[in-house]
Amino acid sequence: MKVAVIGAGTMGNGIAQVFAMQGHAVTMVDVSAAALERGLAAVQGSLARLVKKGSIAAEEAAQVTARIAVATTVDAARGAELAIEAATENPALKFEIFQQLDRACPAGVILATNTSSISITEIAAKTKRPAEVIGMHFMNPVPVMQLVEVIRGQATSDATTRTVMDLAAALGKTPVEVNDYPGFVSNRVLMPMINEAIFCVMEGVATPEAVDTVMKLGMAHPMGPLMLADLIGLDTCLAILEVLHRGLGDDKYRPCPLLRRMVAAGHLGRKSGKGFYQY
Ligand code: NAD
Repeated sequence: MKVAVIGAGTMGNGIAQVFAMQGHAVTMVDVSAAALERGLAAVQGSLARLVKKGSIAAEEAAQVTARIAVATTVDAARGAELAIEAATENPALKFEIFQQLDRACPAGVILATNTSSISITEIAAKTKRPAEVIGMHFMNPVPVMQLVEVIRGQATSDATTRTVMDLAAALGKTPVEVNDYPGFVSNRVLMPMINEAIFCVMEGVATPEAVDTVMKLGMAHPMGPLMLADLIGLDTCLAILEVLHRGLGDDKYRPCPLLRRMVAAGHLGRKSGKGFYQY
């Protein structure tokens, strides 16, 4: 199958890799040539690790890389049988990309988005094919994580859902079907936990280390919520909490003032070198 992946960043290159590993021909599209270069290098690095571990042969790694073409305009999605958008998390940008995809791909081609927090229903409404628009929410790092949250918008058809569930399973992933409400299931459940952990720190209930140790050793989480927040990016956590708060209209989702203050200070977690921990 011919697959177009829009965006070559953290998620886009991982998505391109898992499709190419299943034998699909992938075109990875990014407005930034540098991002395409970095994306391809990330795929090669990931495949090299798999070769080193003995999971795949060196020839297979070369074949997978050869299946990934790159382009700098969405027009390159012409001819694709499936398009998956994993560009920057910005509603206006995604609406524009979906209009471009709607023009480039014939009716019937499924247009999926990897968005973490933007309404699938709203994205779909920007196209002439809302029944063929769906959320295909991969987790980071894509080649490693088992879950694909498959999100049905208001108009997404049963046929589209079935096709995408089957495709995700064929990639070796476990798809879970959910409906389109703010934060879907993943962030609706995760972000309030992270937010509550931040309230614990702000109120002096415990240190970040103590909160994380309770959740790791007491609840068998592989990583504590504050270390996970640092990994996700505190700005991203704040943006998703705002979506939950606004979209669901319930103050139980209000972002913790300490989270706002850290983001304002530029303490964004791992990517800025400082968050709840130092990097
Ligand atoms: P990223 O910043 O690493 O990559 C985004 C890429 O999109 C950049 O390379 C950028 O140049 C490109 N881009 C911007 N405008 C474009 C356009 N018009 N056409 C083509 N490419 C364009 O972001 P990311 O972390 O890979 O996130 C991508 C999407 O995946 C977002 O919607 C995000 O919410 C979602 N997501 C992210 C994670 C995560 O952990 N990072 C997890 C699940 C879902």
